[in-house]
Formats: sequence, C-alpha cells, structure tokens
Amino acid sequence: MAALNGLAFIADPLDRIGYGREDSAEVARLRAHPDASAILIARDMPILARNSEALDPLLPIREIEALGGARVEALLGVLPDGAPVFAALLPDEAVEEKGDESDGFLDRRILVVPNRNDLKMVDLRSIAAGGLAPPDQASLIALAKALMHWHARRTFCSNCGHKNEVAAGGWRRECPICKMQHFPRTDPVVIMLAVDGDSCLLGRQRRFPKGMYSTLAGFLEPGETIEAAARREILEEAGVMCGEVRYFASQPWPFPSSLMIGCYAKAESRDIKIDKVELEDARWFTRDETIAMLERRRPDKLVAPIPMAIAHHLLRHWVDGGVTFN
Ligand SMILES: [Zn+2]
Repeated sequence: MAALNGLAFIADPLDRIGYGREDSAEVARLRAHPDASAILIARDMPILARNSEALDPLLPIREIEALGGARVEALLGVLPDGAPVFAALLPDEAVEEKGDESDGFLDRRILVVPNRNDLKMVDLRSIAAGGLAPPDQASLIALAKALMHWHARRTFCSNCGHKNEVAAGGWRRECPICKMQHFPRTDPVVIMLAVDGDSCLLGRQRRFPKGMYSTLAGFLEPGETIEAAARREILEEAGVMCGEVRYFASQPWPFPSSLMIGCYAKAESRDIKIDKVELEDARWFTRDETIAMLERRRPDKLVAPIPMAIAHHLLRHWVDGGVTFN
C-alpha cells in the first residue's frame, strides 16, 4: 500500500464514543467540560480562528452562544487528550456573504462573521489543498461539515413531512408523528483507474481546472457491488470494457457527503467512446506521460489531481508499479 501522503480527510483522530450519544446527561457533561470545543459551520462553510499564522477550527464552545446560538449541535467525539469536540450549525444569518467567485469547481463564496476580525471563513477544499489546517483538524472539519450539511437539509421528515427532532447527540433525527428515524447519509462513489499494461485511462469534465485529467468516478446505484459500479461507470463514460476490479483505499469526501472508494480496473478493450454529457475528453496515457502529469512538467500543461485527492494516489501507486493484473 502506498503511503497516501497528503490524502485529505483520512486522519480520523476522534474516539466517536457512540455509546455516549444516546445519554443526554453524558452529552451535557461533555459539553460542560473545560476543554470542550466546537467546529462551527454556517452556510456549509467552517468558521476558523486566526491564531497567529495558522487557522484553528476548534473554537471554545462558548462561541456558539457568542455567535447567536446553534440550529443543531452534535457531539463528534473525544480527542486523544480527552477534550470533547462538538459541531454546531449556525443560522445562515450569523454570517454575511460579501460576494461569490465560485467557478463550478471551487466554492469561492466570500463569507464573513460580522464584527469578528479574529474569525475567518474558508471553504474546506481550500483548507485541505492549501494545508491551512493540520490533517487531523481538516478531518474534523470534514466530519462536521458533512454532518451539518445533512442536518441543514433534513429539518422535515421525508416520510410524513412533519418537523424532525434531533436525537442521539446529533447523530439521528426522529419524527415525533410517524416515529421514523433518519440517519446521516454517506453516499458511496466509485473512483477507479482503468489500466491496460503500460497505459491508463483518464478523463476530464468541463468543470475541471484547465488542463486537469483525472480518474473516472460515479455514484454506486442501489443493488450494485463496488466492482459492478466501477465497470459500469467506465463503460458508460468512456466505452471501455473492464474485467477484474481491485480495491485500493477510500477517502471521505465531504462535498457534500461522499465516500470515495478507490479501485483499479483491468481494461479489456481500448477503443474510447466518450459520453459527452459526463466528459469533455478521455484518453489513454502512458506511464511516462502520467508521471509528467503528476509532477506537473508536461509542455502541454496537462496535469493530474493534487495529493489531497485519492485520484492522485491511484495514479502514483500505479506509476510506481504497485498494480499488476494477471
Ligand atoms: Zn414522519
């Protein structure tokens, strides 16, 4: 297994203490802990403290009240030093939008907390890509962001339409009328590199940054195995038939709430037929061409994804000779 250096959101530093969530007295006790902190999310973006040079997502829990109170709180767990960590979803009105420079790929809304120059809002992709927070803190933000994204859109019961109630320390919503229980979603996505001897198949979506090619990917469908989904997505998007599929590694991808399941697929045909709705282009690249894309030294400026994304590691592990199919 490759080292996965730089792969974002995999640190998972918490003891999630699932046993403690159901006990509201225990949740309250942990919230009153002197070292308790909270990751604050508003409009799907984290609020960070400017601590000298670095940005810190773990704010003192009193900041929830200081910023007007939370719509929802969740007990995320306990750090190795015993400090409890919560997540809080603030009302949209707690922050102001000063502009939006989003390009369809990156969330570049300019959000600010009024009258608080000691706080800064930065989208999580920029935090991870720019190393603006340590890897374990980026993982905590990923958890908080995904969980609060779910809460923000599940105010009402999807079964009967009545207002839901938050339960289990923020890990469940319950309908008081029809008694339906609702759990946070994680949407599985297969992301796979099709390989054929010394070449691999990469594609680009229109919304990608200029020159970037990446592994193909797509959501698993109900009733489908990971292997079948990987083969289906490659066939649908690029027209390439694949045989054996092998698991590599996975990555939480909180945009908004996916789990990327990284795989290799052995290609059994070469001709490419692009689905123009999904992809702008797809091509076979040789190992040497792929290395140059990873190292960003191609004259035509074609590049591979950066190390925060699992696509980078699927490519790196393959060019390093880590993948062999019979
Ligand atoms: Zn209901």
